[in-house]
Amino acid sequence: MGRFAPSPTGPLHLGSLYTALASYLDARHHQGLWLLRIDDLDTPRNMPGATDKILDCLQRFGLHWDGEVDYQSRHLDEYEKAVAVLQNEQQLYPCTCSRRLLANAPLIYPGYCRDKHPATNSPHALRVKTADAPVAFVDALQGEISENLATQHGDFIVKRKDGIFAYQMAVVVDDYRQGITHVVRGYDLLDSTPKQLYLQSLLSHPSPSYMHIPLIVDRDGNKLSKQTRAEAVNTALAGPTLFLLLTLLEQNPPLDLRLAPIDSILEWAIAHWQVERLAKIQTVSDLKHH
Ligand code: GLU
Ligand code: ZN
Repeated sequence: MGRFAPSPTGPLHLGSLYTALASYLDARHHQGLWLLRIDDLDTPRNMPGATDKILDCLQRFGLHWDGEVDYQSRHLDEYEKAVAVLQNEQQLYPCTCSRRLLANAPLIYPGYCRDKHPATNSPHALRVKTADAPVAFVDALQGEISENLATQHGDFIVKRKDGIFAYQMAVVVDDYRQGITHVVRGYDLLDSTPKQLYLQSLLSHPSPSYMHIPLIVDRDGNKLSKQTRAEAVNTALAGPTLFLLLTLLEQNPPLDLRLAPIDSILEWAIAHWQVERLAKIQTVSDLKHH
């Protein structure tokens, strides 16, 4: 069971469509379900209308998901429960560090609040105590990845001072409650994975398998996504865009597919999906230069 979990911070860009496609093809090739989740917890960043645009764009590209669209914002009680479990096990502590203090702190959070007992009625974030031990996993594309969260990262936030559940916490609860077995996503999330594995182990959740795929970058090396000023994908050119993405994914689509209906392109791509070919992706360039 795979999933795509866009944040509704803007319309889909080529970079997101590219990871959506890879995740879709990987799930469908293995006769798996493909779920769609809208990562809408970070409400200040949500853009009105973005979710509808994302859903519409996926439909136009023929990337049909299974079941109902899942919205994180409808599962707040489940995140709260998971936080309570960790709290009961003394894995969390309140952190009252100000943004100012942290801005001047070393890159690795030095655990200023770990042994303090600040009054919990003052505004605080919740941090999880990391362990001084390697967290390792084998990424389907990147091979063995190992990180010591305590020495390389530090205790991280699971619930923000503004009351919003952190991405790391929510995604772990989400992947578990949705029964996700295969996570295919962009390389930019690779360093989140050890944190997620760590939370899964604290919550006794099974870990899905992970594959992080190279990102599409433009000529200047900027990631093509919502963060940069990349343009939204052109749904009028769905077929040729899919063809281009398959080429960027090193799937070698036959040329006569380029102008074929999207369903035929996808049917071919599902049948011929070869993960090994992703290893050949080097730096891929932006659509505009093709
Ligand atoms: N919502 C996240 C993003 O847009 C993706 C989360 C995930 O795939 O784990 O970057
Ligand atoms: Zn602190």
